[in-house]
Amino acid sequence: MANEDILKKIIAHAKEYGFVFQSSEIYDGLSAVYDYGQNGVELKNNIKEYWWKAMVRHHENIVGVDAAIFMHPTIWKASGHVDAFSDPMIDNKDSKKRYRADVLVEDYLAKIEAKIEKEVTKAEKRFGDAFDKEQFLATNPRVLANKEKMESIKNRLYPAMDEDDLEGIKKLIEDLEIACPVSGSKNWTDVRQFNLMFSTQMGSLSEEANQIYLRPETAQGIFVNYLNVQKTGRMKIPFGIAQIGKAFRNEIVARQFIFRMREFEQMEMQFFVRPGEEMKWYEFWKEERKKWHLSLGIPESKYRFHDHEKLAHYANAAADIEFEFPMGFKELEGIHSRTDFDLKAHQEYSGKKLQYFDPELNESYVPYVVETSIGLDRTFLAILSHAYTEEKLEDGSERIVMKIPPVLAPIKAAILPLLKKDGLPEKAREIMDTLKYDYNCQYEEKDAIGRRYRRQDAIGTPYCITVDHQTLEDNMVTIRERDTMSQERIPIDQLSSIIDKKIKGN
Ligand code: ATP
Repeated sequence: MANEDILKKIIAHAKEYGFVFQSSEIYDGLSAVYDYGQNGVELKNNIKEYWWKAMVRHHENIVGVDAAIFMHPTIWKASGHVDAFSDPMIDNKDSKKRYRADVLVEDYLAKIEAKIEKEVTKAEKRFGDAFDKEQFLATNPRVLANKEKMESIKNRLYPAMDEDDLEGIKKLIEDLEIACPVSGSKNWTDVRQFNLMFSTQMGSLSEEANQIYLRPETAQGIFVNYLNVQKTGRMKIPFGIAQIGKAFRNEIVARQFIFRMREFEQMEMQFFVRPGEEMKWYEFWKEERKKWHLSLGIPESKYRFHDHEKLAHYANAAADIEFEFPMGFKELEGIHSRTDFDLKAHQEYSGKKLQYFDPELNESYVPYVVETSIGLDRTFLAILSHAYTEEKLEDGSERIVMKIPPVLAPIKAAILPLLKKDGLPEKAREIMDTLKYDYNCQYEEKDAIGRRYRRQDAIGTPYCITVDHQTLEDNMVTIRERDTMSQERIPIDQLSSIIDKKIKGN
């Protein structure tokens, strides 16, 4: 199946089964804004909880905050967002489509990289076991030519981006003869800078209204509370502050479903360390975050690290954890060594000292920061796209099953009376009433049992529990496992421990 087809199917499935809806759909929608439905909100909450537990509860030196979305406007001056949080945009005059100019070039680079990959695959087939990839990459003339081409493009793109050389970026697009994917034409406008922050007014109209921003990242809410938390929590360096919350970006090109939205959620953690020790912690958090992803049971081959060559103005090291989405490998999480950039800037702009007295060193300093920043909605899409499975069954029928990690599944167990009579619903309700306080369960009595199983498969419910006539006699039920579809008879009083084991598996 082509990749776009997979994404389309996932989007349709997400809508049909109450995971994700287009925002304001009855008014024809609002671009790049989405609502989460009855199953989506459960999955989203479970992801948040899984992250929060791993970051805050399992690390004794990390605590959480929940800062407001509105913040003093000077914060965004200090952080550099007012001046530098912009992307270069370009329009195609024929299709009227708007693009991020740097992304057009990045896509061009990705195509060259794909060519190199293709050469490797071809050679692998040709040479079999004798194939030495390192050597091939270092010597094959076609690979070398392509690598050189990539280098020369990067050597023009990155400095142009750093220096805001918009003409230079346009010239690069022209020299590479990049065409609009929609119109196929090379008829481009000039490149312009576009600030991604949404602004609004605070205060009544009669007073002097103040322009404020919707936060484009949650991190600044942590930085400006650094001292509050450090002092009131008597935190000792190294320590971290975590936060989950909404962020807003007026993205130029907001396509690809919930991958790039204008309103989204981030799960961020800022880890405050001694200056000079940031690289140790940067490596630590890269490893720690990788473990978190793998603990969900998704294969390692779906992830890769991408070390940044072009660093943001605040960072001295940065890497992305990329996930293989249906559209290819894309950023899911960023790990950044932010130095003392933010705290120093806030110190300067606010005039308040944001330092730490280190009793071991007997000196005060502005801490350095290592950040982990993951998009909640992107994690949701990663889970959804990995989980979506079309299966042909032995009897020739087909099913769509969402193989969502059980710990994240919206519904943990469905309680199903085989028939809607003979006291079976009452017995099933009894089971529902004992399980529902510990797990999100669903009671369903409508339609044949097979159809009810399919519906639960489609939303990723790990267990279906069926109550039949025999149950009334021996207090045993049939428990069906989602992925294997295996069925087992077990006593009702073991249900809780079986579900528990499954969802705490990792
Ligand atoms: P990109 O390069 O894809 O625009 P970014 O590097 O600007 O992302 P960060 O500022 O590092 O992203 O934000 C941290 C995380 O927040 C990202 O890894 C991503 O998961 C998430 N994120 C950023 N922008 C969006 C968006 N518009 N929609 C959904 N998630 C987003």
